[in-house]
Amino acid sequence: MSEKPAAAAVKDMGAAPAPQRPTDDMTPFEAATYFFHCSADRLGLREEMREVLASTYRELAVQIPLRRDDGGMTVFRGYRIQHNGARGPYKGGIRYHESADLDEVRALAALMTWKNALIDVPFGGAKGGIRCDPTALSQGELERLTRRFTTMISYIIGVHRDIPAPDMGTNAQAMAWMMDAYGQKYGYSPGIVTGKPVELGGSPGREEATGRGVVICAALSAGRKGIDFEGARVVVQGFGNVGYWTAVLAVEQGARVIAVSDVKGGIHSTDALDLDAVRDHYQSNGELHGYPQADEVSNEELLTLDCDILIPAAIQGVIHSGNASKLSTRMIVEAANAPVTPVADQELLERGITVVPDILANAGGVCVSYLEWVQSIQEFRWELAHVNDELEKKMTSATEAVFERSKRDESSLRDAAYDIAVERVARAAELRGYV
Ligand code: NAD
Repeated sequence: MSEKPAAAAVKDMGAAPAPQRPTDDMTPFEAATYFFHCSADRLGLREEMREVLASTYRELAVQIPLRRDDGGMTVFRGYRIQHNGARGPYKGGIRYHESADLDEVRALAALMTWKNALIDVPFGGAKGGIRCDPTALSQGELERLTRRFTTMISYIIGVHRDIPAPDMGTNAQAMAWMMDAYGQKYGYSPGIVTGKPVELGGSPGREEATGRGVVICAALSAGRKGIDFEGARVVVQGFGNVGYWTAVLAVEQGARVIAVSDVKGGIHSTDALDLDAVRDHYQSNGELHGYPQADEVSNEELLTLDCDILIPAAIQGVIHSGNASKLSTRMIVEAANAPVTPVADQELLERGITVVPDILANAGGVCVSYLEWVQSIQEFRWELAHVNDELEKKMTSATEAVFERSKRDESSLRDAAYDIAVERVARAAELRGYV
């Protein structure tokens, strides 16, 4: 049977079809949209609303020619994708990674829509990225790449339209270049990005906010599931912004971090790692490999270590049907975006392993991005204690709401989180008259 013209048009705008059951070969956007469709089924969402919320609103792909330090030229591909803006300006990070393509950025943009609604900040969802290996570029090349990309997407971003932030492979320095490049065209605009350096109007507490939110959520979730966070054995995959701060702040709350990893592999100690010594080693060597006071493990082995709480904080799809049965943990807290595939998610549910979903667990970053944006548009600075206090309140109330909904509906935490978020976005879309 041929597809209805309207449905086909929406599909061209990035709508993944509604799958009956998850499969291993789903693309990142199909996987993200799978969870949405399950929620739409549970909520009985009208068909028109489902079509609007399953597709992206606007997609911009740009060519970025970069003059290299050696005089040569490399042409990169960049994206900015706005998924849904019913609840406010689009908001989401910029990823520099070799896997960043149209499908991955669409998936991450959709996750931002649900995350922003769940943590209840007045933003829609967006994401951006450049398909590149940032570690292979010099600082000068990264700066030229970032400035050119910003100019190219400047037509669709704006302080009250779409506000980028850091994600994998980008940081406060990249946000400073973006703010400057945008400001050269439109005048001083500190509210155009969040996650910028504090010296340029960034918020105290933004750098560690995602990790702080992960730990608040993990400790509350552990308590609800009868796991004592104090003394809990925690494994963290990823030693970047989110992984590092999650590990440090988990220890501050009394947990024992027994293993961490970066892209090249991990280190493991059955007692607990001395994170100050690990950080010093990482800063001097640029990798965890070679750290003397622990055993070396591969990333694949790290995920299967015996622990109480496993926190993937690197990249998507690392927990899949091939390893879900080998995990030896009581709880997974998704600090990364989409680290558990839909097939693995079902298997973990059947095995009784609690999964705290990404759209809840890592929402602390965008929560403090919101607080930074509020400060930037008022050109006013808050104290760190005030920012952390607001973050704690938001993370606590979202976590409690998800647990209450899950209890009421006898559903998984992911289903509960999606149902709350999708309901809020659908209501806003309806009130605006989008659908
Ligand atoms: P980052 O670039 O600072 O760090 C990424 C870390 O992951 C590095 O240690 C890197 O070595 C490691 N890594 C990369 N590829 C890997 C692989 N294939 N296997 C194992 N490790 C790998 O990035 P980040 O900002 O910490 O982001 C990490 C995750 O958290 C991403 O999924 C991102 O989307 C998500 N996230 C980030 C924020 C934020 O505020 N930065 C907010 C919400 C969610």
